[in-house]
Amino acid sequence: MSLVIVGSVAFDTIETPFGRRSRIVGGSGTYCSLAAGYFTRPRVVAVVGRDFPKSAVAFLKGRGVDLRGLKVRAGKTFHWEGRYEKDPNIRETVRTDLNVFKDFRPEVPRAYAGAEIVYLSNIDPDGHEFALRQFRKPKLVAMDTIRFWIETKREAIFRELGRVDILFANDEEARLMSGELNLIAAGRALVERGPSLVVLKKGEHGALVFGRGFVFGVLAHPCDHVIDPTGAGDAFAGGFLGYLDQAGTFGRRDIRRAAVYGSVLASFVIEDFGIDRFRTLDRAAIDGRFRDFRKLISF
Ligand code: AMP
Repeated sequence: MSLVIVGSVAFDTIETPFGRRSRIVGGSGTYCSLAAGYFTRPRVVAVVGRDFPKSAVAFLKGRGVDLRGLKVRAGKTFHWEGRYEKDPNIRETVRTDLNVFKDFRPEVPRAYAGAEIVYLSNIDPDGHEFALRQFRKPKLVAMDTIRFWIETKREAIFRELGRVDILFANDEEARLMSGELNLIAAGRALVERGPSLVVLKKGEHGALVFGRGFVFGVLAHPCDHVIDPTGAGDAFAGGFLGYLDQAGTFGRRDIRRAAVYGSVLASFVIEDFGIDRFRTLDRAAIDGRFRDFRKLISF
């Protein structure tokens, strides 16, 4: 079992129709590792400033997250502020303060270099390349990105696409990357760029997994109160990759089950602000919702 997550550990300020929270703990690496922690012992490569709370570090460690790759630097922790409309699929980035994240060169601890699964979550694609070179021979490399990097570092993103096995993208990102409006066409075009699987997340409508000659659709769990959608994409990836790491094989059946676990983890995280839902969530509840999915889609 070895999953390494390269990503952001951050402070987020979030406003949704249900309220506002200032400088709560977030970040792609945080959400992803907490979700993956239900299946495996994820390892994180990230950087925070001296202002990052020790209680948050203790919480992550208590959830089985290995933080030997978390660097603490002089300066302030990365801070992101986002606002959501009534439609939770629409979000506006109000500000991004890179702080210690600026020029972050992710150094992979030697103990992590033999990882079998590497997840390059949302950070600068140049940082992804730098990190990837430090792993010996991962069996599975996955990546995620956002509009910010697709628009500012397009070439680096396309170079990276040629080196990864799985791309996680939401519908907007897939359209921006491929230039195709139709999602099926976008998925196909992205598979041609290198990854053997493209996981297209469609917010409250679920996700589509594309491969060569393979398509699998998974619903999102019906949820009538989306309190805070932040981290849903990262929790999806964490559930997906955490499950694969636990399974140890990456066949089509594993991929289907991984996609359902991804959707289940995403459906929990949006039920509360930030990472709060993880404080009470246990594996039994996750498996319960996994079984509910079976009923939801069987006919
Ligand atoms: P998601 O809602 O899954 O797309 O991810 C939200 C998380 O991404 C938040 O917790 C933010 O801290 C983090 N985030 C936002 N913008 C960036 C960025 N430019 N680089 C790295 N992480 C970011």
